Amino acid sequence: MELSAVEPMSALTLQGSAIPASDDPYRALYVHLPFCASRCAYCDFTTEAVPASDERIDRYVEGLVRAVRAATREGLLGTVETVYIGGGTPTHIGLRRLVSLIYTLSLSLLLTPDTEFTLEANPESLSPQLARDVFALGVTRFSLGVQSFDDAELRALGRPHDARTAHAAIDAARERCENVSVDLMCGIPCQTKRSWDRTLDAVLAHDVSHVSVYPLTLEEGTPMAKAVCLGSVASPDEDLQAQMMLAASARLEAAGLTRYEVASYARPAAHCRHNKAYWTGLPYLGIGAGAVSMRMAGGMRERLLDGSVQERLSPLEADVEDLMLGMRLREGVASLRVREVSARLPQLSAAFDELVSLGLVMRDNDRLCVTERGWLLGNEVFARIWSCVTVQ
Ligand code: SF4
Repeated sequence: MELSAVEPMSALTLQGSAIPASDDPYRALYVHLPFCASRCAYCDFTTEAVPASDERIDRYVEGLVRAVRAATREGLLGTVETVYIGGGTPTHIGLRRLVSLIYTLSLSLLLTPDTEFTLEANPESLSPQLARDVFALGVTRFSLGVQSFDDAELRALGRPHDARTAHAAIDAARERCENVSVDLMCGIPCQTKRSWDRTLDAVLAHDVSHVSVYPLTLEEGTPMAKAVCLGSVASPDEDLQAQMMLAASARLEAAGLTRYEVASYARPAAHCRHNKAYWTGLPYLGIGAGAVSMRMAGGMRERLLDGSVQERLSPLEADVEDLMLGMRLREGVASLRVREVSARLPQLSAAFDELVSLGLVMRDNDRLCVTERGWLLGNEVFARIWSCVTVQ
């Protein structure tokens, strides 16, 4: 994103009127901080490399604080059960600004010991002091963008941290919170099965409660995609990626981290409730530049960006979306629910039958869930279900 694009987003959240109300109360709150120390080679997120001293970050955080207060005045935050400060790199903005934002949130929300409050962090900017102070204000969970414990792979990704910094950041997070999540990436240029094994060894040695594993994807326009086009970097090998995903599944499950979602492994009490809100159709409020909200309005499910509706789903479309998102989860969806929705959309039950015959979905008692092959080909599963309402 260009620097100039940072300016309008402040205005976006400064206005109380930009905060949408919902017929069903919001259950999850997402706050977006679109700043990073530098741009990673593969990243196409709404974020920008800005020095931590940049005054625009101050103005942006002031805008967020005002938006949170406005949402509180509107009575929109009283039912929020999970908070997620994501980015970008939230920890890049530094302790002083984070304290101001989290203090406002802690005054505005009904924070109880049961509230899941996640702060996304990158290793280079999560110090023991920062971890201590945000924990004291109510953060209960850290989600750390580690990606790899191999310095050559981290350089290939353009990450600003090295393996030693990643270890130190995990220790700092673990010292304060039981619930710490580590993101890992497979299919990185120069990554091998052996180096992936070493990365899995390293994360398991930290005994974290949650690990997310993503395959590297080449996003158009990123430096990495351009380097692959020019031939200076090898294209990710999909077969090798699949083998790495399978190895991760075997190793993490054997260590007691159960795969509960296509990319997420956790101990039983450490499932990310905030992400589960997204996958189970609960209304969520997004505050900040590029943050999406989902609300119910007049029986329709709406997604909003910057206060304007981007997508409106009918009750039938929302039901199909719930089934599609439910298939991300290990428990899948109830067969009864599929039959109920199929009564209004006959092609839906045919789509599930086809997924079963392809070996991507299995029947498990009274539920339909993805198979091991279905985890690998998740996008195909989701697309076939969703196409039932888009291709009629
Ligand atoms: S730290 Fe995350 S959000 Fe920032 S540039 Fe890297 S991948 Fe993108």
